[in-house]
Amino acid sequence: MKTIINGRLILPEKICAGALNFDEKIISIGEPVSGAEVIDAENNFVSAGFINIHIHGAAGVDTMDEDIGALKKLAEFLPSTGVTSFLPTTMTMPLEKIYRALERIRLGKNFTSGAKILGAHVEGPFISKKFKGAQAEENILSANFELFRNFFDVIKIMTVAPEVLNFSHLPLPFSLSIGHSAATYEEAMTAIERGANHITHLFNAQTGFHHRKPGIVGAALDSSAIVELIADNVHVHPAAQRLVAKIKPRNEIILITDSLRACGLGDGVSELGGQKVFVKGNLATLEDGTIAGSVATMNDVLKIFCANTSTDIAAGVEMVTKNPAVELGIFDKTGSLEVGKSADITIFDDDLNIKKTFVNGQRNF
Ligand SMILES: [Zn+2]
Repeated sequence: MKTIINGRLILPEKICAGALNFDEKIISIGEPVSGAEVIDAENNFVSAGFINIHIHGAAGVDTMDEDIGALKKLAEFLPSTGVTSFLPTTMTMPLEKIYRALERIRLGKNFTSGAKILGAHVEGPFISKKFKGAQAEENILSANFELFRNFFDVIKIMTVAPEVLNFSHLPLPFSLSIGHSAATYEEAMTAIERGANHITHLFNAQTGFHHRKPGIVGAALDSSAIVELIADNVHVHPAAQRLVAKIKPRNEIILITDSLRACGLGDGVSELGGQKVFVKGNLATLEDGTIAGSVATMNDVLKIFCANTSTDIAAGVEMVTKNPAVELGIFDKTGSLEVGKSADITIFDDDLNIKKTFVNGQRNF
């Protein structure tokens, strides 16, 4: 048994002092259990571990790398950013390559160290050529979910362009997320009503807001769809982040990183989906200047979003813990500090520097 003392515990309804006692699961909250291994939080925040539902890579590795060691390295890097579980995210690449990535992700669910792999976010290949973003056009396919039938157990979210679907396959055993799409407001609203109640990286690679053509952004803001937000100030301007915070209820916002292998490596030349990526500061671009994924971490995006929107830390934490857990249907197991849930815990200071991270009660950072 372990006990965290001297922490500011971010609990579902309040921030309070008290001890957090756990082994693999959270045992009790209140008084420290005698005889337990003591961890001094040194007056830092103690929250549920962060969950990243959209991440391609970091620390020099990418989900598409043909090496299970790469996925393991990614899992082992993420606790240093406060992340205790995640969805490795595939790119629009040749189908066989996506299949092999999904096979590795399935195996990765059994890793015994690092952040937990919950399944996959499959980004494409059923997307719009017009809004491909950093996805390679030659690998975009017509929508046919049967192509992924063998991986329905591992896929948790699939990003699709709803204008290329006929929805005859619904319901599917995973969330459909609208993204890389040229859908009109009307097409997006229809898709949301039919169950595609999630928007991939809101504002990026989709039809924007115009007062006579509200687009996907208009549909996202005018419905109860859950929106992913890359709150790194590169992909989404601080003012746009504020507008989302004003319009959307807190439980409809999930912060993500969409990060690349270059995340955590500093400036230089990197790679995404077989294309060269140039990184300078917070900005990662393809050769033609298209913004590729990000180099932000989850503690970065949480800090930036809270600062831009004057969101208090407890509310911000929900956007990286509770909301993704609810979306994935695992909020009964993780996503908040409550007795009986997995001891997925992160300790961080007022500047969102991660101090310690526990996954299933095991120290991972
Ligand atoms: Zn992505």
